[in-house]
Amino acid sequence: MDIARLYELQKIDVNLEKVRRRVAQIRRKLAESDELRQARTAVETAQTEMEQLHARQLDAELNGQQLAARITESEHRLMSGEVRNAKELEALQASIDSMKRQRAQVEDVALTTLQLREETEARLGEQRVTLAQVEASTQVAQGTFQQEEAKFKRMYAQLKQQRQNVTERLDADALELYAQIAQRKAGVAVAAVQHGTCGACNMSLPTGVVSNANIQEGNPIFCPSCGRILFAG
Ligand SMILES: [Zn+2]
Repeated sequence: MDIARLYELQKIDVNLEKVRRRVAQIRRKLAESDELRQARTAVETAQTEMEQLHARQLDAELNGQQLAARITESEHRLMSGEVRNAKELEALQASIDSMKRQRAQVEDVALTTLQLREETEARLGEQRVTLAQVEASTQVAQGTFQQEEAKFKRMYAQLKQQRQNVTERLDADALELYAQIAQRKAGVAVAAVQHGTCGACNMSLPTGVVSNANIQEGNPIFCPSCGRILFAG
């Protein structure tokens, strides 16, 4: 078994995993940012408020106009001399007074609504500026991330090619053993021997194991602690 080549395969696979993770990270960053979403929502909320306030103001103005017309009509009747009965006159006057109080209330609502509209309009203006700024800065950041993504994709393709070249030179048994251990051991099947310890689990290796790994006549030597294939280098 070509342990050196298996170790080469291991290094390629570790790098492939790193690149995969980085690309996933970039993709998340390329997705719409929270800041942008918040800025958009703020503008939309203020726009809805503006529409509601406008409707309320129109309503109040219309009510005011209707009340004004009815007041004029009643006052006209009062002055015309058509009504002579004292009680009726009193009732008519009371109705006019009541309508005037209503009109004052309605005018109050219209005025308050107008002030609110002005405030909301100013806020909307500020929020639109913020949104434009966030959109501009997001665009710059997105451009950088896109470039980075392209770079990592190229790197990924190169690693895939390297992997292909290496696996072509390994026999089926070696590849199967590698795949089995990699699956069980978090993607790491081959560990380098480093100063008498296993490079993957860091356990001290018995001298016999180290010397066997050094000789390595085609038979894989395993770390007694983690079970990975040892590569003495
Ligand atoms: Zn180990």
